[in-house]
Amino acid sequence: MTADSEQTIRFYRPDAQQVNPGLRSPDYVQLSTAAAITAGLIPGKMHRTACTHCLNLLVTYAEGCRANCSYCGLARHREESRDYADRNFIRVDWPTVRYLDLIEAIKNGADGGQFQRMCISMITHPNSDADTFTLLEQWVKHVPHVPVSILSNPTTLEYQDLVRMKDLGADIFTVALDAATPEIFERTRGRTVNSPHRWDKYWQVMEWARDIFGPEHFGAHIICGMGESERELLYLVQRIRDMGGHNHMFAFFPEQGSMMEEWPAVDRGQWRRVQIARYLIDYRDMRVEAMQFNDRGRLIDFGMEQESLSEVIKSGLPFRTSGCPGSESDDISACNRPYGDSNPSDILSFPFALQSHDIDVIQQQLDGQNVAAGLEPDSGL
Ligand code: SF4
Repeated sequence: MTADSEQTIRFYRPDAQQVNPGLRSPDYVQLSTAAAITAGLIPGKMHRTACTHCLNLLVTYAEGCRANCSYCGLARHREESRDYADRNFIRVDWPTVRYLDLIEAIKNGADGGQFQRMCISMITHPNSDADTFTLLEQWVKHVPHVPVSILSNPTTLEYQDLVRMKDLGADIFTVALDAATPEIFERTRGRTVNSPHRWDKYWQVMEWARDIFGPEHFGAHIICGMGESERELLYLVQRIRDMGGHNHMFAFFPEQGSMMEEWPAVDRGQWRRVQIARYLIDYRDMRVEAMQFNDRGRLIDFGMEQESLSEVIKSGLPFRTSGCPGSESDDISACNRPYGDSNPSDILSFPFALQSHDIDVIQQQLDGQNVAAGLEPDSGL
């Protein structure tokens, strides 16, 4: 059951809970493969990047998430076919570890100081709120120099729960809104798929987060490509920015085994346009009202001079993974989630600084060409 007995920390395979359902939070957590590699806890290499700067954790229970979101690899409908912990979350495996062993490893410098942030992802489970408090409290006590973000599950949270998280030391609170419109939310996460989430509750929690955590310390996760128009998505981005929050945007990429596994990946040109526009709204004080859209809601004018726009594109910054910042607040995310929304051979969110050949390919994508970004020119792939 142990993945590698030579490690000082015991790792359990993703399907370990099938054998031992006692591997559950708060004693155990799952962590992203990228975080485990960064901390040197499991061997592995990542394409064109050596590390992630965020330790992404996931609360874990053998019985799994009780929600049924149609795009998610952890959704309830999969429980009869596979063990819960064998399911994917944002397309990568999440090995299980004992939480205090992990804390000890990070305290001892296993990550070489790479982690600038830790993030706890909640799921829909009766114990998720209480266990998140425990995980947060233990982290702040033992590793106070690495700030904590909460990727929340609003459905089970009340106002006082957010106050408690803030009091326990959480730095940033994020709402996993995911869907860009109420209709898409309902279709992918609501009654239509027999899932408990409600659009209004998510917005109520977003407003609580604004009031409790304050500007720049709350935000939303949004998935691009689940049927919304570019206009709809960018007006949502502006709404959250106007509240003082940040937008962490993912490209839709079908998760194998989810109800949307046959849904097409987001069009590359659409994705690049909304990446640029989100960056301009979040970091350059541009407004969506200055942008122009055609009658199908496609972005046709960014509302800025071509020369300035070219400089923004050449910087590569809009195409980096969006997420919570590191210890220094800037427009590069500590949470670079390598290959969380795309393959290394067709990168949609770049977990590393872009080279000029990457920008060239992105420009071709913006021009409507069907080409993939992220490969080295001489890779031969
Ligand atoms: S609540 Fe989160 S983990 Fe659970 S099915 Fe929905 S997206 Fe997946």
